[in-house]
Amino acid sequence: MASVGAVTRQIAALEISAKQNGATKNSRPLHQKTGSQSNVSKLLTKFAAPHPFPDPKPKASVRTVPPRPANPAHSTTKQPAPAPQKPPPAKPAADRELDIGKYDGGFEIENEKRGEAVDGEAARELALDSSVSRTRPTREWHLTDFDIGRPLGKGKFGRVYMVRTKVEPNYILALKCLYKSEIVQSRVEKQIRREIEIQQNLRHPNVLRLYGYFHDEKRIFLMLEFAGKGELYKQLTKYGCFSERRSAIYVDQMADALSYLHSKHVIHRDIKPENLLLGINGELKIGDFGWSVHAPGNRRTTLCGTLDYLPPEMVEGRDHNEKVDYWALGVLTYEFIVGSPPFEEMSGYNATYKRIAKVDLRIPSKVSADARDLITNLLQYDPERRLPLVEVRRHPWVVRYRPKTPSPQAGKAQ
Ligand code: ATP
Ligand code: MG
Repeated sequence: MASVGAVTRQIAALEISAKQNGATKNSRPLHQKTGSQSNVSKLLTKFAAPHPFPDPKPKASVRTVPPRPANPAHSTTKQPAPAPQKPPPAKPAADRELDIGKYDGGFEIENEKRGEAVDGEAARELALDSSVSRTRPTREWHLTDFDIGRPLGKGKFGRVYMVRTKVEPNYILALKCLYKSEIVQSRVEKQIRREIEIQQNLRHPNVLRLYGYFHDEKRIFLMLEFAGKGELYKQLTKYGCFSERRSAIYVDQMADALSYLHSKHVIHRDIKPENLLLGINGELKIGDFGWSVHAPGNRRTTLCGTLDYLPPEMVEGRDHNEKVDYWALGVLTYEFIVGSPPFEEMSGYNATYKRIAKVDLRIPSKVSADARDLITNLLQYDPERRLPLVEVRRHPWVVRYRPKTPSPQAGKAQ
């Protein structure tokens, strides 16, 4: 594990998109997620060590939490006891002057007009604060702990900004705001809570980290790993489709991340390009856990996910397990290479359902034999017959394009 002092500083030309308001998730005509503005700017960014904020200082008396040892089942790093800590090493001044862009006052402006306080059970459900997390308490965070920079985008429940922690080591993060009353209106309190709890416990290079969270009367703030190259969806829209090399590198990273999630008994259930972000080296990051479930019991029947990526067992309302993510990986592989998902039907949902249930798969001739083999083996009607993720990573098509060095290369591949 890298220490804070070993964190790499990187210079990158970044293109961060600000998505237009109102893009819906469930109807997705071909690559029409609009509105990635061309705000191109050079940003110096510094990326997070595996556990950058291990500072569960003894709390102020208002919120006394007995110090908890880290749960080894969820931890790959040793959590330090809340003992006196060595001061962090002095940082060069330049670190504190990295350009995070200009803040437009959006959090405050919006907070004047948007949302309202919630009460009762919802207020309790949404009083989300990582400093009192049972599994991994962090230090206590407030909005005033950050220098706020450029807007990164707008989501359904609020805005996302590039920020830097005022405290050493001045990490750059994406701070995502969610309005509690809007969450309540959409009746997703439990889902949001679950999403946050799941994501906070995950540690994998291809899974977007959630470093901490806090709330005020009206809002919840999520401190997310900054995905320096923005949305994968935007890249797909820009290029129409990806080369097989680039697709294979992403599929490799996805299979690795999904294996990790499944080992933690997390089924994602909503794998699709819109939920994937890109790190500074172009590495893929699974970034949205809205539909994921922690499923030790392994069988769920809720219908969820986006139509094009739904497997037959979900379309047909049967029980499902983690193999829904195998299917989605097959759909994703196809969409990367071809440019549209395999069962997409412009004539409507029913037509798509039918094609999924029949596994009516038509692979264009431009797709190589190896890629075709992988797609066909993932898009199997019977979940048990789908190629296991470990086999995906050993598949000749994936192995052929895997970079020789362990450093992420996906961003360079075209
Ligand atoms: P939601 O997740 O609320 O349904 P969404 O996925 O459309 O909605 P957000 O996750 O709120 O929206 O993000 C809005 C935009 O902000 C994204 O489309 C993306 O461009 C940008 N963004 C979000 N998180 C990050 C991040 N961690 N790093 C960089 N950019 C981000
Ligand atoms: Mg999102």
